[in-house]
Amino acid sequence: MFHKIAPVPPDSQFPRNYVRPEQFDALLRSLKSAGYQTVTFEQYIAHRRGEGVLPPKPIILTFDDGYRSNAEIAVPIMRRHGFRATIFVVPGHLGQSNRWDAEETQEPLLTAEEIRALHADGFAFGSHTMHHSRLTVAPTDVAFEELRASREALENLLQEPVRSICYPWAQHNESVHRLARDAGYACGVGIRRRLNRASTDIMALHRIPVTYLDSTWRVRWDLLRLKFRYE
Ligand SMILES: [Zn+2]
Repeated sequence: MFHKIAPVPPDSQFPRNYVRPEQFDALLRSLKSAGYQTVTFEQYIAHRRGEGVLPPKPIILTFDDGYRSNAEIAVPIMRRHGFRATIFVVPGHLGQSNRWDAEETQEPLLTAEEIRALHADGFAFGSHTMHHSRLTVAPTDVAFEELRASREALENLLQEPVRSICYPWAQHNESVHRLARDAGYACGVGIRRRLNRASTDIMALHRIPVTYLDSTWRVRWDLLRLKFRYE
């Protein structure tokens, strides 16, 4: 899980949302040489249903919030290594900024046009709700509408089904999972330093956060050691 690939601004309130460009480049080079191949959530959903085959070392790179710097900095680096990613965007704020983090440096978000261009280049998109909503505390009808409307807005934009949801602030529970299913999603992601297995709840998939503090070897070590953690 990534947010922004960029130098860490000195005044950032959430510096862990950053990975430096040279650090990201080194990590992808390492993953590439180890044989990892990026896949999409569509491929993963099919795999979980027993349809379709994943490459031997599949990995999904995800970006939360959909910052414009993803297109400007992260995408060229991923392209160089032959990798693609899934970007979780907030359709109610396209082309605006991360106003849900009022105390954080405001950075521009991708516009609809930029999202379409990245999609044409093989990048996948999922929903991060309509307004970066706290789904566990919002009234049920509001939470459902945040889920449903964002899926519909993205499907209109991309002209294809959108079936992955990234819960804002990684706040989710059983009732949020049920709402997400009812709103048309086939998988959901939170944050937990584990790999995803056949037994992992597909509406609560794990993601390993990567920050500017994590070396390439830390990430590679996690990917190795977590193979042996089953709980
Ligand atoms: Zn977010």
